[in-house]
Amino acid sequence: MTLRGGLDLGGTKIEAMIVDDASAIVGQAKRPTPTEGGPPAVVGELAAALREAAAAAGVEPSSLAGVGVGSPGEVDTAAGTVAHAGNLPEWEGVYPLADELGKELGVRVVVGNDVRVAVEAERVLGAGRTYRSFLGVWWGTGVGGALVLDGKLWLGRGSAGELGHVVVRIDGRRCPCGRRGCLEAYAGRGSLERRARKAEEIGTKTKLFEIMRKRGLPRLTSGVWAAALERGDRLATELIDEAIEALGAAIGSVENLVDMDAVVVGGGLGTRLGQPYVERIAAAAQPRLFVADRPPAFVLTELGDAGGGLGAALLVSG
Ligand SMILES: [Zn+2]
Repeated sequence: MTLRGGLDLGGTKIEAMIVDDASAIVGQAKRPTPTEGGPPAVVGELAAALREAAAAAGVEPSSLAGVGVGSPGEVDTAAGTVAHAGNLPEWEGVYPLADELGKELGVRVVVGNDVRVAVEAERVLGAGRTYRSFLGVWWGTGVGGALVLDGKLWLGRGSAGELGHVVVRIDGRRCPCGRRGCLEAYAGRGSLERRARKAEEIGTKTKLFEIMRKRGLPRLTSGVWAAALERGDRLATELIDEAIEALGAAIGSVENLVDMDAVVVGGGLGTRLGQPYVERIAAAAQPRLFVADRPPAFVLTELGDAGGGLGAALLVSG
């Protein structure tokens, strides 16, 4: 039996898992992502999480076939580096994550883009496994995407799948990427929070920040949005309605271009809001479809939060 390690490196938490040949999880651990100390601090926590998961599985990290890491930022799998990971502490330059973590754990480490590895996990093990082609829509802090064509992830020249930066309005809102009118400026949880804060500052009533403070949270998490929507909060409802319209326009445009079988919705917000919102996104995409009588299937992620770690482990072959 060959065991592999998978690490999902997120802006708020690190999830580690050990999986067997059939991708069954045999050990797991979770730790918060450090908020300071730069890449070396992150490497320390990644190693600690992986050791904990290995201990739960009753093995040494050095006995694993390898460890995969799904990371935000600009990931170069061949070089094993991660650059400009804005959600991680003091991570501006190019950092040799695979080498440094490999030295720490005494095992081979492979890094991959976080959204791509999660979508690859859906392709192999989850909601995408019955489709030849699909678009993974990872709706979270940003809006990530990955495209599977003819049963394979389409990488382009290395940066394909940036759904969040598809333009939904010419000269529209400023996106965190610096450009204007991108989907992410209308639907990313980061952009939604900035707009909610501005609205509250000018006196708009909303339960969003009250719920956030009651839960002792520093930001509007997916759970906070879900709670505000359940209570019928007007600002939350308006912002999410607009996000869904923008998602529908972008996804419909992609469908018109590539004619894929399905759309798989995941990410923090997508997973938390679940099936009813997947159906709302499908309804928002429908009027944008050029071939209206043959829409793609719209499905929710099957692997949910585990997809990141499972997909990271898939980076390690054999
Ligand atoms: Zn953008």
